[in-house]
Amino acid sequence: MLDIQYNLERIQERLARAAHRAGRNAATIKLVAVSKKIPWKTIRDAAACGQFIFGENYIQEAADKIDRLAANCPDKKLAWHFIGHLQSNKAKIAAEKFQVIETLDRLKLAKALDRHLADSGGSLEVLVQVNIAKEPQKSGVPPEECEKLLEQVSECPNLKITGLMTMPPFARDPEDSRPHFRKLRILAEDLQDRGCLGGSARAELSMGMSGDFEVAVEEGATLIRVGTAIFGPRI
Ligand SMILES: *Cc1c(COP(=O)(O)O)cnc(C)c1O
Repeated sequence: MLDIQYNLERIQERLARAAHRAGRNAATIKLVAVSKKIPWKTIRDAAACGQFIFGENYIQEAADKIDRLAANCPDKKLAWHFIGHLQSNKAKIAAEKFQVIETLDRLKLAKALDRHLADSGGSLEVLVQVNIAKEPQKSGVPPEECEKLLEQVSECPNLKITGLMTMPPFARDPEDSRPHFRKLRILAEDLQDRGCLGGSARAELSMGMSGDFEVAVEEGATLIRVGTAIFGPRI
């Protein structure tokens, strides 16, 4: 608990300094605490420290924890972001439990989510996952296919597209991530200019993890996804 509070404070300080270096307002950048494989009681501790946005990768694990937290701390309004690979046959549960899906990477999934939302009467924020370095083993659309997917998804009335998400190649040196983060920002700006990514509201850019979130903030991230630096190593 003390560790989590300490870690969250350090991250917020580092985030604020990175924002300052880039001439940005730190209040426009949200910390998503990545809680995959972290027990629900530890998430409750983080919520008690004022952390309210959580990211999860595995749908069933997440659904169980989301229900437990809702039952045990109903006063906490937590926001859940899905950041893993989502199978279309899990779209219903994802649409029910999450507020944001950061990893939309194909039309079939968008349609499945949209259909369930039409039944339930809800809506969902989505980010399109971009495979910025075109790594064969990674999910996400290649940058040049992003516009087409955005156009197709804009036909889904219950999905609100708010931005782009990426996970660059693993790098030991955070500076190696910079060109990829920059590329995502330029892609988003370009798509906005062409009217494919929302109107006047600034697009969300979800990029940066424990090892490179400061570089991501310098390059324009509005959502950073940090796990290990908050909760310690996952076992
Ligand atoms: C696990 C994960 C993170 C967090 O990684 P850390 O290095 O623990 O901060 C961020 N984004 C995605 C998509 C992840 O799967």
